[in-house]
Order: sequence, then C-alpha cells, then structure tokens
Amino acid sequence: MSSPTVENVVIIGTGCAGLTAAIYTGRANLNPLVLEGPLPGGQLTTTSEVENFPGFPEGVDGFQLMDNLRKQATKFGTRFEQALVDRVDFNTMPRQLIAGDRTILAKSVIIATGASPRMTGIPGEKELYGGKGVTTCATCDGAFYRKMDVAVIGGGDSAAEEALFLTRFASKVYLVHRRDSLRASKIMADRAMSHEKIQCVWDSVPLAVEGVKEGAVSGLKIQNLKTNAESVLPVKGIFVAIGHVPNTKAFAPPLEVDHNGYFKPDHGSHIRTKIPGVYVAGDCADHVYRQAITAAGMGCAAAIEAERWLAGHEAR
Ligand code: NAP
Repeated sequence: MSSPTVENVVIIGTGCAGLTAAIYTGRANLNPLVLEGPLPGGQLTTTSEVENFPGFPEGVDGFQLMDNLRKQATKFGTRFEQALVDRVDFNTMPRQLIAGDRTILAKSVIIATGASPRMTGIPGEKELYGGKGVTTCATCDGAFYRKMDVAVIGGGDSAAEEALFLTRFASKVYLVHRRDSLRASKIMADRAMSHEKIQCVWDSVPLAVEGVKEGAVSGLKIQNLKTNAESVLPVKGIFVAIGHVPNTKAFAPPLEVDHNGYFKPDHGSHIRTKIPGVYVAGDCADHVYRQAITAAGMGCAAAIEAERWLAGHEAR
C-alpha cells in the first residue's frame, strides 16, 4: 500500500493573504497546495474598484486583481483544490486537516481563511436573504435594483462603498447608521454624504425586514435611538454592511482566538501560532488593519516563516 501524500505546505484560503503566501512558497519551490473554500478569491471578488492597492494608480477591479494573483501563484507551481476544512489535528506530525471524510497531511500550514459578512440577526433577514432582497454584496446584486429604492445598513468603509456603488442603479439609497457620523475614512464618508442619491439616516437601528409573507423585501423597519420613533423605509433591497466575522471556528481549539474570534497573537507575533510550522495570515488574524495590502503582507510573512521552518527541520 502506498503511503499517503504529505504536502510541504498547505494554504487554506484564496484571498489576498492565501494567494500571496502561494506565490512566495511556490517561488521557493515548495509546491504549495491551496485549499479553496466557498468564495474563491475572497472578499475582494465582491468589491468593485480597488483604489488603494499600491501599483495601480488608476485603480483595479477586485475580481481582476484576484485573478492576477491566482495566475501568478499558478505560474510558480501552486495547485488548487476545493476543500472546506472543518477540523484539524495539530498534535501529530504531519499535521492533519480534516475536510468532511478527507484528511490532508501537511508539514506546515498557513491559515488564511479571511472573514465572512456579519448579519444583523433581525427578523426577516434570514428568510429574505439571497434572491429575495437581503444581500451583502452590491457588486453582485446591485444591478437587480435598477430604479428602485434600497437601504444600506452600516457606517464603515464597506457601507459607504456599497452605497456609492448602488447609486449607479438605484433611484435612492438610504444609508442607515446607528450613530450620527460615519466610521468610514474621510474620503469615502465625504463622497457618500455629498451624493445626491444617498440619504443618511442617522442614529437608527434596523428592527425588522418587512415582506416575509410575500417572499420579497417590501421595507426596512427602523428605530431612531434618540427619539425611539419607529418607521419603515419603503425599500426593495437591503444591503447589510456591518463588518465581518473571522473564519476561525475550525481551528479553535487548538489555536487560540480572542473574544471576537480573531486568532490571538503568539508571543507578539501575528503570524506564528503556538503550533510549530502553523501560521495565520490576513483578515482571520487581523482585526486592526484589515486591508487587502496588509493581508497580502501577512501572507508573504507567513510564507517566509513556513519556508524557514521547513528548512530548519529538514522536512522538505
Ligand atoms: P467596520 O469598519 O467594522 O464597520 C462596521 C460598521 O457597521 C460600523 O459603522 C458599525 O457601527 C456598524 N455595525 C456593526 N454592528 C452593527 C449592528 N449589529 N447593527 C448596526 N450597525 C452595526 O467594517 P467594514 O466597513 O466592513 O470595514 C472593515 C475594514 O475594511 C475597515 O478597516 C475598512 O477600512 C476596510 N475597508 C476599506 C475599504 C476601502 O478602503 N476602499 C472598503 C471596505 C472596507 P459603529 O460605527 O457604531 O461601530
């Protein structure tokens, strides 16, 4: 019986962090295996124009950027496979990654699983999610709301970006935020607040999505936190943009996470974990910067760590 394949390095995730780690470990002749989850290319594939990735003075389409990274990783020998890791055993060497009934063996592992959109949890949201009017992706679904009124929930860069993108299609965009100023960077906040199609609805929280019985969104019930007054915004589309939840569940334990679910730094390092040869990178491990370029930087650092660790342990 042939012995099972043991990979040099398995990278979990295909966002900026994972693909950058693949480019570096590929160039180091480690023949990396990348495991692809439910959203190939990660969060940037759901965004439109990326204006702040260095090297693209005219901006770059998010999907295009990820496609370029993938091609670059493939060029250096990266292999891609679909697998959703749901459990790990890091007590053994090689390390074990369990995806359903499949076990993948690896000498070193880079976890770059990113983060998923956070939902509000209000009544009606779950029932009408997807093609029925509640969504988390303006780039994917915005065109369905041509000449309709829509609402965006949130006050960060994502919310401002979603709202601005939706102005291409929608007649009116309500930007519903629980405070009286946006958290978004000044340039994005200024753009959103000065856009004629965007109406900011301050100090307001969403209470319920209306239209469950009809099977399609017919409004967003909100409450003003200062006056307690309740009202309904007559919208057909609701775009939830209230941040993200890190995808770390499958790895904790044995890895440690903080109270928000982000991987905890080990001895001050945001890349190393307490398990030798196991590294973390990108939005699953970074609650501070959360940028495409910082995720790519962490992916690069994790790849260099893995390469050095493998060399030091003569494990190649
Ligand atoms: P974020 O910065 O964490 O903002 C989340 C927003 O949602 C906040 O305004 C928050 O309100 C609100 N919120 C959270 N939970 C809520 C709830 N249960 N109900 C109602 N509102 C809720 O997340 P993000 O906008 O996704 O951005 C994440 C990171 O990516 C940031 O670092 C951002 O700069 C970056 N990003 C950058 C760009 C760009 O540069 N083009 C684009 C998108 C994202 P409070 O303000 O009251 O906390």
